[in-house]
Amino acid sequence: MVKKVLVTGGAGYIGSHTVVELFRSGYEPLILDDYRNSEVSVIGRIKQITGKAPEVILGDVCDEDLVNEIFQNHKLSGVIHFAAYKAVGESVEKPLKYYSNNISGLLSILKPICEMGNIPFVFSSSCTVYGEPQGLKEVNEQTPRSIPTSPYGYTKWLGEQIIRDAFLAQKELRLMNLRYFNPIGAHPSGLIGELPIGKPNNLVPFITQTAAGIHKELVIFGNNYPTIDGTCVRDYIHVVDLAEAHVKAIDYLLLQQKGCRETVNIGTGTGTSVLELVNTFKDENKIDLKFSFGPERPGDVIEIFANVNYAKSLLGWTSKNDTRDAVRDAWNWEKSIRNIK
Ligand code: UDP
Repeated sequence: MVKKVLVTGGAGYIGSHTVVELFRSGYEPLILDDYRNSEVSVIGRIKQITGKAPEVILGDVCDEDLVNEIFQNHKLSGVIHFAAYKAVGESVEKPLKYYSNNISGLLSILKPICEMGNIPFVFSSSCTVYGEPQGLKEVNEQTPRSIPTSPYGYTKWLGEQIIRDAFLAQKELRLMNLRYFNPIGAHPSGLIGELPIGKPNNLVPFITQTAAGIHKELVIFGNNYPTIDGTCVRDYIHVVDLAEAHVKAIDYLLLQQKGCRETVNIGTGTGTSVLELVNTFKDENKIDLKFSFGPERPGDVIEIFANVNYAKSLLGWTSKNDTRDAVRDAWNWEKSIRNIK
């Protein structure tokens, strides 16, 4: 029988790519989304890619009655919970909005998971829980979590804590936190990708929009850091690889006979500086990009990248794409939505 997986936020950036990969692996994704940070056209685009239209329930994951109804009406084999706010800067300005939505949403979905006791659950966490790594910049899952630098970061930190405590009280649960590093890129078809609302805060959407002529130039925040070229270093992971990791996570949890709680880094294992990424973008896409160096962004982590050994040993997952593939797909996506030839 086809296994149904509930994907909250399934119309969003990472969610939509995960829905595609779930279909490709023989699962039946069921989306819960209210399109507040996505577009309904994504559903048709998923169908263009996979030949299958996912079922969509229009609604808010914080609506506990709705969520309970979904668990009653559908035989779910797993749940992947993406639906949450993710803009770091906005979370500093509107902390209560972030705590309220991100924590309520998690509790709303986790309650029926705990009541039913046997449905695998995957949580979107983030490398933000490591804060600024002290000493080694390559972090593994044993690296102590640090104090998050934003309310957004705290919602992920607290989310992991809630999941931990739920497991300690109920050892039959099957739970996994995936700690994403920096997701970038788009589907190689050019049909789905990131749709930032307003001026993007993240690096790659800002790069592609600048290349498309929407912004005058990219400002690189700081070039005097103690890194390879003075700019910050991150682990940029292609969104399709990240989506595949979710399928592997569900595969793994479904195979477990006993309860488990796992936390896994999802990155490439390679650090890339902002300047290196900009140069890769220019080189791969044969396009110029105007940039200048500006002041450091407050709260920026200087350097971090993932140790990905556990993802490999536990899930049999490693990233297949590199930053070249990712910036090509990101530019291809930007061109397709702006009708640039
Ligand atoms: N960055 C930049 N200019 C921008 C946006 C981002 O120089 O317009 C830098 C930022 O300082 C950081 C890196 O790009 O070093 C990645 O930033 P992003 O916001 O995408 O991810 P995060 O900081 O959350 O890892």
